[in-house]
Order: sequence, then C-alpha cells, then structure tokens
Amino acid sequence: MNLTLDFNFAKTYKSRSQKIRVVTENWAGKNVYCAYCGKPICRFENNRPVADFYCSNDHEEYELKSKAKTIMTKIMAAQYDKMIERITSDKNPNLFLLSYKSESVNNFCVIPKYLLTTSVIEKRKPLSDDAQRAGWTGCNILINRIPEIGKVFYVKDGVVKEKNKVLEQFNKIAFLKQETVESKGWILDVMKIVEKIKTDEFTLQDAYDFEGELQNLHPENHNVKPKIRQQLQVLRNKKLIEFLGKGKYRKL
Ligand SMILES: [Zn+2]
Repeated sequence: MNLTLDFNFAKTYKSRSQKIRVVTENWAGKNVYCAYCGKPICRFENNRPVADFYCSNDHEEYELKSKAKTIMTKIMAAQYDKMIERITSDKNPNLFLLSYKSESVNNFCVIPKYLLTTSVIEKRKPLSDDAQRAGWTGCNILINRIPEIGKVFYVKDGVVKEKNKVLEQFNKIAFLKQETVESKGWILDVMKIVEKIKTDEFTLQDAYDFEGELQNLHPENHNVKPKIRQQLQVLRNKKLIEFLGKGKYRKL
C-alpha cells in the first residue's frame, strides 16, 4: 500500500475541499480492499448520493470521508429523518475515514455499517423560520461514540497494517451484524466503558463505576448492573475479553 497522495490529479480543481476529495478518492480506489472479503474495491462512475465505492464480489458499498491531521470525530450528514430511515433499512454504506498529513495518508480506517446505529446520530437544530429551508433538520454522525474496536485501521499513524490482521479484526466484531438495534446499543456502550478503563485487567466493580453514565444513555432501563454483567458475558463469548474468575476480567 502506497501512502502518497497524488495531487497532480486535482490540478484543475480550484477549491481545496474538491482537490482533497478527488485525490483521496483516487488513492482509495487504487490502494484499498474490501473489509469483508479482501478483494480490491471499485469506484462508482459519476457521483452517487451516498456511496463512493463498491465491492464487485459481495456488493458492499463504502463512503469515504477525509480530513487533515486526524480522522473525523463528527460528520455533518443529511436530513435527520432520511438518515434514520437509511440506517434502519440497512441501505447505509460502510464508512471509510481517512486523515492525511502533508501529501501522505496518515490514518485510514473502516467503520462497518452495522455500527452506525441510531445512538450515534445526533439531531441538529431545525433551521430557523427565516432560513430558505425553514424547519429542515440535519444530523451529525458522532464517530467518537463508536468504540475503538469498531474502527478497523488499515493505516495507523503512518504505518500500514498487515491485511490479514485487518480482516481478522473486522471479522471479530461481525457478530454485531445479527444483533437487534437494542442489544447492539448495549454491547457497544459496554465495549466503550471497557475501553475507558485504563488497565488491561479490571474488575466487575470497575465496570459498575460507569453505571451512572449508562443509566443516562438508557433512562428507560432500571437494571443497569445486570445489563453490564450480561454484556461482559457477550464480550467474553466473542473472545474480546477473558474471564479470570472472582469478578476479574482481562482485555484481549
Ligand atoms: Zn467484498
């Protein structure tokens, strides 16, 4: 994988954002493989409203978002209702996030589409009455609400990861595809708190310390502690953590 971005491609474009779009799309089209099957991805001809790339093997689609220095933590997205419809109907593409430094790709990761749940969509304020599209409500995708394990890096801090490692990590979280929206939300939230615990080994109590935070995210639920235990068991069964006995766990 060659990390150099070829700016010769974008000579004719005046705007900086258009240049970046053309150059990064060109790079991804030449260097990136499908996260599901490892085959090279193809670019859609012409501009499609949502996706930029597809895999001809399994028809997975991808959208690319690029930013200078660090990968995006928040993406301004389309109309709120349309977005909710898109993610609940499974028509959402997977997301590629790219960051670049000078003329080189610094980070590149994929977020599988099934991690883009309603809990990462933030409704924006409706446009004010005097705006041209008064009442129009947009939304943001909150990338920082997705646990780190859900961001599968091909390139991290300028270092290219081995392809089989990338596909392996992507596969590790694939079980979430089958989960319902509700149970997926709980698993992801508990993954997120496990990541917040600084040490590799932790106790059940360390996880319980986040009870208040999880209660805020799930105000309708009044059994947060049993929910935490249940999700830790799921993570253990999926070999994301190990149970050491006596209320102790280790991250894998
Ligand atoms: Zn594929």
